[in-house]
Amino acid sequence: MTSTPTLTFNDGHTIPQLGYGVWQVEDDVAEKVVRQAFEAGFRHVDTAKIYGNEAGVGRAIASSGLRPEELFITTKLWNADQGYESTLAAFEESMDRLGLDTLDLYLIHWMQPKQDKFVDTWKALIELQKRGRVRSIGVSNFTVEGLQRLIDETGVVPAIHQIELHPYFSQRELRAFGAAQGILTQAWSPLGQGGELLGDPAVTGIAAKHQATPAQVVIAWHLAIGNVVIPKSVTETRIHENFAALDFALDSEDLEALNGLDKSAQGEGRIGPDPAVSDFA
Ligand code: NAD
Repeated sequence: MTSTPTLTFNDGHTIPQLGYGVWQVEDDVAEKVVRQAFEAGFRHVDTAKIYGNEAGVGRAIASSGLRPEELFITTKLWNADQGYESTLAAFEESMDRLGLDTLDLYLIHWMQPKQDKFVDTWKALIELQKRGRVRSIGVSNFTVEGLQRLIDETGVVPAIHQIELHPYFSQRELRAFGAAQGILTQAWSPLGQGGELLGDPAVTGIAAKHQATPAQVVIAWHLAIGNVVIPKSVTETRIHENFAALDFALDSEDLEALNGLDKSAQGEGRIGPDPAVSDFA
């Protein structure tokens, strides 16, 4: 079976570059599809408290026969739990649901700029890492300014930043900031949630050229530009298809065409909320 390439964090730990995301997967379905993902070859799973499926992911881990050290599990601190003490408590609840002793990666899910508790929350993640409860700590849905505040006020640089990122919204500024600071970039909604992007003539043309599928082309683009990527599917054939994106590589002409699809200069391309202005419970 193809083994997944890994990238190395600024703390020395590694992360499989391709993982499996479980947003909008019901808890009772999560156990089945995460097991299917393991069977396809995935060893990295991305969940969150707010997804309501940490317990299902935990059952899949427990029944998989895989040892914890063979897996890479991420979960995220929800917005309502931000703050130092509440983060420590929410972390333990997530770990109980997952059935794990040590977590690979814990992320602050959203910056929540108006709530403005993210620096205290980050201090709690630093404490959890010091206690050995979590190997690596990072954030999701921050701005350059927010990342800079974490660094300036604590001296601890996040290992990774998980953000909306796909060819229509390629996040050049945040990727460049991450590269300069030693923060890996992780792409959420990497397939553009399976919408228009997968039917884009540039994507389908490259797929035909490589006898690959549009989803595989987009995943291969993420891998080629250095992203950690976590596509989601609850369809077993697609789970296998997405993992098999590791089996081929794009050429420089393909990459140039895909890099040219970004719509952010026209103020378009973003699917989800803008972290700079979004605060929600
Ligand atoms: P995605 O871009 O991974 O798209 C998933 C959808 O694409 C599927 O529901 C399906 O409709 C389609 N699809 C998947 N594989 C396909 C294939 N091979 N062929 C054709 N269509 C296919 O979207 P996502 O679920 O939003 O993002 C992936 C993961 O990122 C999530 O599951 C979650 O783990 C994470 N995420 C994080 C945040 C955050 O705020 N940090 C937000 C959204 C998602």
